[in-house]
Amino acid sequence: MSFTMENNKSLRNWLDQMALSHPLVIAGPCSAETEEQVLKIAHQLKETDATVLRAGIWKPRTRPGNFEGVGALGLKWLQRAKEETGLLITTEVANANHVELALMHDVDILWIGARTTVSPFIVQEIADALRGTKKPVLIKNPVNPDLSLWLGAVERFYTADVQNLGVIHRGFSTYEKTKYRNNPEWQIAIDLQNRFPDLPLLLDPSHIAGRRDIIFDLCQTALDLNYDGLMVETHHDPDHAWSDAAQQITPATLKQMTIDLRIRKEEGDAVEFNNKLGTLRTKIDVIDHQLIEMLGKRMKIADAIGELKRSNNVAILQSKRWNEILGRMILEGEDHHLSEEFILRIFKAIHQESINHQKKMVSVEEKSLQ
Ligand code: PEP
Ligand code: MN
Repeated sequence: MSFTMENNKSLRNWLDQMALSHPLVIAGPCSAETEEQVLKIAHQLKETDATVLRAGIWKPRTRPGNFEGVGALGLKWLQRAKEETGLLITTEVANANHVELALMHDVDILWIGARTTVSPFIVQEIADALRGTKKPVLIKNPVNPDLSLWLGAVERFYTADVQNLGVIHRGFSTYEKTKYRNNPEWQIAIDLQNRFPDLPLLLDPSHIAGRRDIIFDLCQTALDLNYDGLMVETHHDPDHAWSDAAQQITPATLKQMTIDLRIRKEEGDAVEFNNKLGTLRTKIDVIDHQLIEMLGKRMKIADAIGELKRSNNVAILQSKRWNEILGRMILEGEDHHLSEEFILRIFKAIHQESINHQKKMVSVEEKSLQ
């Protein structure tokens, strides 16, 4: 392909020109509900660090029967909020018709939702409708954890000569229920940031969290990882919001949050050193967290093996299988510059824990027979 998004500093220009705040703070309700609601929230946001007002006008719902947005009518409310407060406005567009209406109503920034990013056909339709625009377009990650699909959407806009781009990390859907509504999978965003360091990266903690109480920590992690901004769902009366009530916070909470968040400012040698160190440490923390999760999953499988061996009366320790694993891991370790000694130590410890788990399964059974 002929375009070179990689190391393209111009990708950041719009952010530097428009970022009335650093990091950029976009806030506002999940959905525009009524004109009064939009105006009320906009005026309250005026007292916070937010410089862009968000509101969904067309709401893509996973299941039918939920509030699907007020439609084009809401664009007038956003325009009025802009006139009254000076905040820039942004909304989600999910087809060429939405684009036309949003441009007619002078929406400043457009965003592409997670359910749209998964579809190259729709992404292309929207990119064609926006061809050549100078308006920034923010592309949310697809619902599934697929970096190529996310980048593919970015590339479709870039090749349609839409170059004021950014991405929003809103987490990834999982079948398994976790403490998140959408699993953050920080590593995917970190990989994207490593490949395209000049592509502005924002966090949407609201759709990752699905609940209010962990939004602060998510924002702090993002700032520690040098994200360029936040998009936070904010409502004057969150509990009565027509969509995503559990995850919205009030403008007052947002204000306090931005006061309490540690923002790494890039100035001076010592500060720069500390910033870089802090970012690298946060990356390590993300990986350590993944290691523990993976080890936990491995031990759950060991439990199942213990159960199977018990019911078939098979001995727990099977040296042949163990030696095979060890041999394979030593070779894989070499590919990743990990010494044999290190692999041996780490796998002996894992194996021991695995045996302990399997033994526990057997003794549970023995106890219940007594
Ligand atoms: C939203 O921002 O309200 C929204 C629908 O988000 P997502 O596309 O991330 O689900
Ligand atoms: Mn929402």
